[in-house]
Amino acid sequence: MSTVQKFVFKHNPGTIHEASDALETGDLSSVKLCEGLIDRIDSVDSEINGFLSVDKDQILEDATASDSRRKNGKELSPYDGIPIAIKDNISVKDQTCGCASKILEGFASPYNATVINNLRKNGVVCFGRTNMDEFAMGSTTEFSAYRKTSNPWDVGRVPGGSSGGSAAVISSGQALAALGSDTGGSIRQPASFCGVVGLKPTYGRVSRYGLVAFASSLDQIGPITRDVEDASILFELISGHDELDSTSLPKSNFNYADLHDEFDINSLKIGIPKEFLEVQGLSTDVKGAFEKSISIFKSHGCGIVEVTLPNLAYAVSSYYIIATAEASSNLSRFDGIRYGNRVDKSSDLLDIYLDSRENGFGEEVKRRILLGTYVLSSGYYDAYYLRAQKMRTLIRDDFNKAFSACDLLLSPVSPISAYPFGSVSDPLQTYLSDIYTIPVNLAGNCAISVPTSFDGDGMPIGTQLIGNFMEEVKLLQAASWFESVNDIGKQT
Ligand code: GLN
Repeated sequence: MSTVQKFVFKHNPGTIHEASDALETGDLSSVKLCEGLIDRIDSVDSEINGFLSVDKDQILEDATASDSRRKNGKELSPYDGIPIAIKDNISVKDQTCGCASKILEGFASPYNATVINNLRKNGVVCFGRTNMDEFAMGSTTEFSAYRKTSNPWDVGRVPGGSSGGSAAVISSGQALAALGSDTGGSIRQPASFCGVVGLKPTYGRVSRYGLVAFASSLDQIGPITRDVEDASILFELISGHDELDSTSLPKSNFNYADLHDEFDINSLKIGIPKEFLEVQGLSTDVKGAFEKSISIFKSHGCGIVEVTLPNLAYAVSSYYIIATAEASSNLSRFDGIRYGNRVDKSSDLLDIYLDSRENGFGEEVKRRILLGTYVLSSGYYDAYYLRAQKMRTLIRDDFNKAFSACDLLLSPVSPISAYPFGSVSDPLQTYLSDIYTIPVNLAGNCAISVPTSFDGDGMPIGTQLIGNFMEEVKLLQAASWFESVNDIGKQT
């Protein structure tokens, strides 16, 4: 285990709920908390590279304001003064929002995303911009235009992605919690790789207003945290209907208090999709962790049933058609004229577009735009895009059928655990490793990754629990129960 992780597990278990309690009793101030985390950033982030920027003055100004609210008995919520790190694709007014891309270098958001307004209403302090794969396209954070984030458990390995910065800064004790975004696994997979918790909410429960769009029909913002309780707290703060997002669900508010509703593990039924154990490339260690979690549920009296997702084999290809099609359209606005960086060596408008995009986008983003434009082109639309949409409907139906036989599904998060930089260079191989997370985005369900055990090299492995549409209460209750009974074999 690296020294970075050793420090965290020995000295700094800091969570939102612990910090909130300490703020309430007066044992801690927001300024002290933020200063402590900033010190930690100063000492370890040169090794981790989880943050793209941290505006220390602004953070301490916000923390000071929070402390004086609290002193006057005017705190906005129990979470007033809690710092939360923000992925670089979520807009915070007057702060840079670059999606880790050169094309948006120096761009500052003119407004707050709804999730940020929701956090601010509760007094939360926005705590730095976390690194990511450019425009959230990737699974390793290696596609950031600026720097590679390292996995705090072994700095020679990837932290996962695309929200790798968010997961790594929590795992290395530089932040209590963070927001990420998940289009095909980008919250759950880095959470699994870094040994933290990641929740992808039901599509439409968290507003996407102010999230820079990758694939609008799949994107969701969600929490990455140290434990399930923090994920629930942060989810409560950010969820809710928003008229600024036309896909926002009515009555989407999540109430943390609902988690105290009765939960009986004996009346819970967990479904195991039989195709999940047959996935090619499923590593022995991940398979072992998955089997361990099944047996934990079983041995405590939970019903285990076999279910089937017969179209699983088509999920990855459908996703990479739909997501790239939407991305090619969403990213067309980055033309050097309306946003971000412009290359204007020519006076011809078309050349300005071409040069700005050629210079501003990285290789992976270009690959996706090309793929997406191709599958939407008139000659191929029916053969690819339309078929992928039909397949998406079938996959959604498969989930509905599966949920008629059980309450939750259990699955690995990724077939492999965190791997050394450069060891997977074929994009197709990386795409295929999204097999367990992508179907959930296609169906729109909710899912969470919870730390489960370690692989032979000491790297963390998570388990995914998948809930039906809007069933976060059941999902989080089961995840919290699992977390409390599972011994992850924590190394100290
Ligand atoms: N790895 C997936 C992709 O590259 C998922 C990304 C995400 O969820 N943002 O598309």
